[in-house]
Amino acid sequence: MALAEPDSAEASWDCQTCGACCSYSSEWPRFTMESDEALDLIPPQFVAADERGMRCDNERCSALAGRVGVSTSCTIYEVRPDVCRACSPGDHACRTARAAFGLI
Ligand code: SF4
Ligand code: SF4
Repeated sequence: MALAEPDSAEASWDCQTCGACCSYSSEWPRFTMESDEALDLIPPQFVAADERGMRCDNERCSALAGRVGVSTSCTIYEVRPDVCRACSPGDHACRTARAAFGLI
């Protein structure tokens, strides 16, 4: 099934006042096709014990700073995993996460 394209309002959602997708599920920030060199750039305190993704505190990624829905930032933004780069404001994952935090 094709996903609906985000409308202009969704596409303008500001990640820095959100952080929902970084706090939705510990299963989301998992590593995929990153090279060993790319993964080595992620500080080890933020990596899960099984080394298959980001370490989460409950469902929230440990690299997320701030308060969801108010002001947030990724503290490893420059070296974040591929899945984090793929999530865009207004896409399906974004809308799912925002809805869970009452941000729609
Ligand atoms: S849920 Fe959407 S708007 Fe919020 S941080 Fe993630 S991509 Fe950005
Ligand atoms: S690494 Fe950064 S962008 Fe990815 S889930 Fe964690 S805080 Fe969010």
